[in-house]
Amino acid sequence: METTLAIIKPDAFLKGNVGAIIGMIEGNGFKINALKLLKLCKHEAEGFYYVHKEKPFFKDLINFMTSGPIIVMVLKKNKAIEEWRKLMGATDPKNAEKGTIRNLYGTNIEKNAVHGSDSKENALYEISYFFPKIALI
Ligand code: ATP
Ligand code: MG
Repeated sequence: METTLAIIKPDAFLKGNVGAIIGMIEGNGFKINALKLLKLCKHEAEGFYYVHKEKPFFKDLINFMTSGPIIVMVLKKNKAIEEWRKLMGATDPKNAEKGTIRNLYGTNIEKNAVHGSDSKENALYEISYFFPKIALI
């Protein structure tokens, strides 16, 4: 079993898609090991997305991720990292496969409803960023 960090982003939260997305998570065999609702400040969002700090979209991304509440979760499943990214769909909802979360609930390449870790190393960093006690287990 593997764990990954998932986030329901402010766009999906504000549109009332939290229940539908959590339903898809559970319906696809993920176990929710931890969950909390947060509203990030600028400093927290910058720390989480530090890998993108040189990207042209970084400032907009931080503004977006601090624009409303988010749900952060630790998901557990066999091959959770790859499986969750498959269920999310491509970064740009225009390119996301039919039936994926970003296809159903994403608005554009920035407001794309959900986040998922992209490697084991980043999953560990991201899980411990939001759930420092869980990472010690
Ligand atoms: P995430 O890390 O959120 O799971 P991802 O791994 O599919 O998404 P990344 O390349 O890591 O995509 O980008 C992180 C986030 O930054 C994207 O999910 C999106 O919200 C935003 N983003 C990425 N590319 C762009 C872009 N070209 N313009 C605006 N925002 C972008
Ligand atoms: Mg990413």
